[in-house]
Amino acid sequence: MTSTHKILQAGPLPPPLASKLPALCPVEILSDKPDPAAFLQRQGNEFTVLVTTGTQGATRGLIDALPNLQAICSLGVGYDAIDMDAVRARGLMLSNTPDVLNDCVADLAMGLLIDAVRGLSASDRHVRRGDWPRVGPTSPSTRVSGKRLGMLGMGRIGQVIARRATGFDMDIRYHTRSPKPQLPWQHEPSLIALAQWCDFLIVACPGSPETFHLVSADVLKALGPQGYLVNISRGTVVDEEALVAALENGELAGAGLDVFEHEPEVPAALIANEHVVLLPHVGSATRETRAAMCGLVLDNIRAFLADGRLVTPVGP
Ligand code: NAP
Repeated sequence: MTSTHKILQAGPLPPPLASKLPALCPVEILSDKPDPAAFLQRQGNEFTVLVTTGTQGATRGLIDALPNLQAICSLGVGYDAIDMDAVRARGLMLSNTPDVLNDCVADLAMGLLIDAVRGLSASDRHVRRGDWPRVGPTSPSTRVSGKRLGMLGMGRIGQVIARRATGFDMDIRYHTRSPKPQLPWQHEPSLIALAQWCDFLIVACPGSPETFHLVSADVLKALGPQGYLVNISRGTVVDEEALVAALENGELAGAGLDVFEHEPEVPAALIANEHVVLLPHVGSATRETRAAMCGLVLDNIRAFLADGRLVTPVGP
């Protein structure tokens, strides 16, 4: 490992990752600086590696302030918060942490689906309020098993969700830009047609300018008053205002959401809605998976410091 490298840590990281960085090469933590902009102006040219997360990201301003930057190593698979135009323009290397989180995100997607459709959290609130002895059990909900599942996105996580859903005897179709003929499920070229066909729509595509508000008012309308939406991808993929309106007008039965358009802000109308399950972006947040993600970030940094390559590079 060469001593010419220096890491800039954008913000707080899980201790299993943060604690191991100083052993690799010198590290500075940007978010700890009293005046980060002044710090970058003074010392930005010292850093060759930026370590960040899917939510902290890296703006063009930050990348521009690091003229000797060579690699960005990000914790998380989504990199929509990293300015990819700046990354490409500078020819920077970028790594993320794919695959190691598939199982936990897929587990959470199935949990959100079952919770929203069967009303688990709502029934839990009912019991805790003391409503069971006063008004009886909650009303019958909707069956999950054997239903039609539409997947928006059928990549690493989407395929694991689909396999889980197969165990629930669901009929599965998916919408992506290109069909995946190697998969056993039917490709649907139109998202609207997929939403019309399915009972449940699970969103598992990346956040990007191209996927912004892909789940529009029209898609929600096509999903219909008996339909349920689950989003474990990025809040930006769903038109949140249209979602609130559809739920309030009875045009959608319910939703399970791990991600939000302006997280950590969650619209009051969603918080007030009994048919919505809300989670604070915890798809990959198990101790086992976070440890594996941290390990993969460290592997990428070590490989880069050793011979200038990354273990899990993000493609062009
Ligand atoms: P992936 O393997 O790259 O799969 C992405 C899928 O989305 C592919 O099937 C891709 O197919 C499809 N897609 C991309 N752009 C599309 C578009 N414009 N229209 C329709 N489909 C499109 O990604 P992954 O590893 O499964 O992760 C998916 C996303 O989950 C991540 O990007 C991240 O944002 C999110 N995530 C969330 C959490 C959480 O904590 N909630 C955790 C991990 C990941 P085509 O290329 O053929 O279109």
